[in-house]
Amino acid sequence: MATMLDYQTERATWCPGCGDFGVLNAMQKACVNLGLEPEQVVVVSGIGCSGKMSQHFGGYGLHSLHGRSIPTAQAVKLANKDLVVFAAGGDGDGFGIGMGHFIHAMRRNVDITYIVMDNHIYGLTTGQASPTSDVGSKTKTSPQGTVEQPILPLQLALAQNCGFVAQGFSGNVKQLVNLIEKAIQHKGFSFVNVFSPCVTFNKVNTYDFYKAHLVDLDQDPDYDPHDRVAALRRVAEANNLVTGLIYEDPDRPSFEESLPGYPDDAIVSRDWTLRQEDYDAIL
Ligand code: SF4
Ligand code: MG
Repeated sequence: MATMLDYQTERATWCPGCGDFGVLNAMQKACVNLGLEPEQVVVVSGIGCSGKMSQHFGGYGLHSLHGRSIPTAQAVKLANKDLVVFAAGGDGDGFGIGMGHFIHAMRRNVDITYIVMDNHIYGLTTGQASPTSDVGSKTKTSPQGTVEQPILPLQLALAQNCGFVAQGFSGNVKQLVNLIEKAIQHKGFSFVNVFSPCVTFNKVNTYDFYKAHLVDLDQDPDYDPHDRVAALRRVAEANNLVTGLIYEDPDRPSFEESLPGYPDDAIVSRDWTLRQEDYDAIL
């Protein structure tokens, strides 16, 4: 049985206090709790500080291109359906250059878990406005304050009928572990947006800010995460400052379940067989 130690790699290179530590911790703990061995799990990351997730997580890792973690992760999953596959990235990576992939992944519904470390800034490139920066955010690229409206990830996912939508916070790892466990267990594309503070370049969206403003829907007995329209209303009313399981449709069939002949007769399976033979030949 794997332990947290089995999921450790080298010392993480994020700034001390970066929210991404909490996300890494939660992903590791969720895998341990579900009894997964590191060799069963693949993390595919994009580019940015969050892109280091594939190196710091002690399973298989694939550091892909900017905004391309989702298509790469989908390919990994379809090639080997027995793997648990994460796509991981940031708000710039996923909601900027990678936005097209996000939308199509929600309609395609391949069984992967997409974790976004949303810090409302480009951290790796030292503090430019990102697609989720709030209006008025003063950054290196918006010294007078951002004038563009931010992307609203939860509302976007709900509007697109994503089968699993959750939001966590790096400052509440216990809840995040639970959300990631549920996301892995959901059959189909699961989206977990995480408020993951950039302590170096974002002095507004801080741990204290989120602690003061977040509403935990998991603790609300009247909230029904199976009512998509009510979820949309609640998220909008709270200005997206909610955590918890926002919405799940457990009955929506995944891409794999919907694709005729998958995995035995589907093209993706034949490709995998060829690659496996090549691999065996090398050995
Ligand atoms: Fe984290 Fe920001 Fe440092 Fe990047 S720059 S490692 S996002 S705190
Ligand atoms: Mg970012």
